[in-house]
Amino acid sequence: MTPDATTPPLNYKRVMLKISGEALMGPGQYGLHPPTVERIAAEIKSVVDLGVEVCVVIGGGNIFRGLQGSAQGMERTTADYMGMLATVMNALAMQSALEAMDTFTRVISAIPMDQICEPYIRRRAVRHLEKGRVVIFAAGTGNPYFTTDTAATLRATEMGCEAIFKGTSVDGIYDSDPKKNPDAKRFERITYDDVLQKHLKVMDASAIALARDNKLPIVVFSLADSGGFVSILQGKGRFTVVEQK
Ligand code: UDP
Repeated sequence: MTPDATTPPLNYKRVMLKISGEALMGPGQYGLHPPTVERIAAEIKSVVDLGVEVCVVIGGGNIFRGLQGSAQGMERTTADYMGMLATVMNALAMQSALEAMDTFTRVISAIPMDQICEPYIRRRAVRHLEKGRVVIFAAGTGNPYFTTDTAATLRATEMGCEAIFKGTSVDGIYDSDPKKNPDAKRFERITYDDVLQKHLKVMDASAIALARDNKLPIVVFSLADSGGFVSILQGKGRFTVVEQK
């Protein structure tokens, strides 16, 4: 069945939104594009306004990726820490944009940096969500050799989120690249194991396995379409759900 206006709302109470750092670049090649950050903040606000509790993890790829640094001869763990710091900058930019829209927000870092944001304390983070604040988890898992996809899955599980929303540039998972192949077929639903076996580029393999082991559905949707995030929660729009059969 194709999700359309007749699809019942997903009825989630608490969700995790995962976006890559590159989603904040807008038309640029690097860093932050303030109008794009504001547009995504407005998407988040409209979901909060529905009464849904929202966690957010933003990657750091628009500023720095550890693998990139290590390919250039930098020691890998140092490069990964730089990548984690990049995610803190993105989290602060999103906090600023959300607060400019009167949406209460907390940035919580896996690496303590008390002058800038709160340290990660699970119960405190849950309390913020219960009070309707958007909780942005920064600095990934706090460990090198991981990615923010894994961080999003880990925090979503710890927070008791009912699903991870993975915002991408296309409206779901296809059997081939829809930007290159006009006949590419979009999956409505797909299992975690199929994503892993077919090497579909949704999230990295450790994140998919962690989501599978914790039965956490992954909703892949387009962040490029305005209103895409809120539409899905209202039972509209196009997306792919990764879940167990
Ligand atoms: N990173 C890390 N541990 C984590 C999360 C992130 O070391 O738990 C580092 C890693 O170097 C990564 C960078 O932070 O390349 C930025 O994160 P990611 O690549 O996931 O960002 P995205 O591709 O989503 O923008």
